[in-house]
Amino acid sequence: HSQLLSTSLRGDFPILSETVHNGHPLAFLDNAASTQRPACVIDTISGVYERDYANVHRGIHTLSERSTELYERARESVRNFLNAKNVSECIFTQGTTASINTVARSWGDANLAAGDEILLTVMEHHSNLVPWQQLAERSGAVLKHIPLTDDGRLDMSSLDTLLSERTKLVAIVSVSNTLGTINPVKEIIEKAHAVGALVLVDAAQSVPHMPIDVQELDCDFLAFSGHKMCGPSGVGALYGKEALLEAMPPFLGGGSMINEVRLDSFTPAELPAKFEAGTPPIVPAIAMKAAIDYLTHIGLEKIHAHEQVLITEAYNRLQEVDGLTILGPGPSHRAGLVSFSFEKIHAHEFAQILNDSFGVAVRAGHHCTQPLHALLGITASTRASFYLYNTPEEVDRLVEGVHAVQKKFAPQGRKRKPRK
Ligand code: PMP
Repeated sequence: HSQLLSTSLRGDFPILSETVHNGHPLAFLDNAASTQRPACVIDTISGVYERDYANVHRGIHTLSERSTELYERARESVRNFLNAKNVSECIFTQGTTASINTVARSWGDANLAAGDEILLTVMEHHSNLVPWQQLAERSGAVLKHIPLTDDGRLDMSSLDTLLSERTKLVAIVSVSNTLGTINPVKEIIEKAHAVGALVLVDAAQSVPHMPIDVQELDCDFLAFSGHKMCGPSGVGALYGKEALLEAMPPFLGGGSMINEVRLDSFTPAELPAKFEAGTPPIVPAIAMKAAIDYLTHIGLEKIHAHEQVLITEAYNRLQEVDGLTILGPGPSHRAGLVSFSFEKIHAHEFAQILNDSFGVAVRAGHHCTQPLHALLGITASTRASFYLYNTPEEVDRLVEGVHAVQKKFAPQGRKRKPRK
């Protein structure tokens, strides 16, 4: 366990020493929904409000200059984190959902017509499905979906028939928030570009957990959220290639996104302001920089390696539980989360027992992937998701809890074949 980070950094997260129901120490395994924050991020939030806060880009006074500088430094840290070429390619948004909607409204409305195709996958989060469904309604564009293999990976053999010169956009999740599958995004981008399609990557579950380099990937757009990477909620980013963003009309109209406004018309501002109408999430963006600094100081490679240790252990042990169905591939194609279903008991009840009797916080439901659950023939699943501060002891407690539920509700189940 030489890669284990949790030993040294758990103390950075005040909330992790909370006790929960029945006095159990908290095992927080709901990180795919939202993560916790280290003290340095919390201190940044109160520090800015105590010393530096004012609106950005507006006032000619000291505090406005300070907060503007901090806000723009945060943008530079996003650029550096993603290895984008230019800060003008990094737009602050409310998060992944807002980033994807910006592309659908701005790029989509300007570029898609009836009969054009948008290629998605069946494992997308609702926030990478609904905006395209709405765009299809407005434009007459057609939605297609990459299907799954039996073990919950993308069926790459279908790509050659699904991609054609009608495909204008491919929008894919890089790590599934339900299956845990790590998708071969780079390969999909190469194939999409070969037919002239652009690619948007929903990186909500990958940017927080592994190194991502937008130039190396050559993606056209990429979206992520601050709250899934130790930052505040209410902030995230949209990366877009500069030439694309330049050519796109602004989506939201209002203050900051203009150069000049007349009574009946306006001229838009330059990038990135063109896509940041209104007062932005100033302090959340500045605190997201503190989160990025924290994560990069530790190293995204190390964070990924740590989660791989935990997920491999969790997967292998859960695989042995009679009657438990694990969704998605084996640990070698999987990021640090695992969802499962159990015939005898509803996912919500499962999660309730894990919380009440073991102090283990997991998510239960469809995790905003209803179509995927329908495809798998279930309505809900229980999901445990890890981050850098989780420990092998927490995996033990999860597994112990699952065994206890299994013993209580289904003393005899069936064995399943393990996956690689
Ligand atoms: N995509 C994926 C894969 C996600 O896991 C999530 C969050 N559950 C989102 C998009 C949406 O992110 P947000 O709610 O922060 O906009």
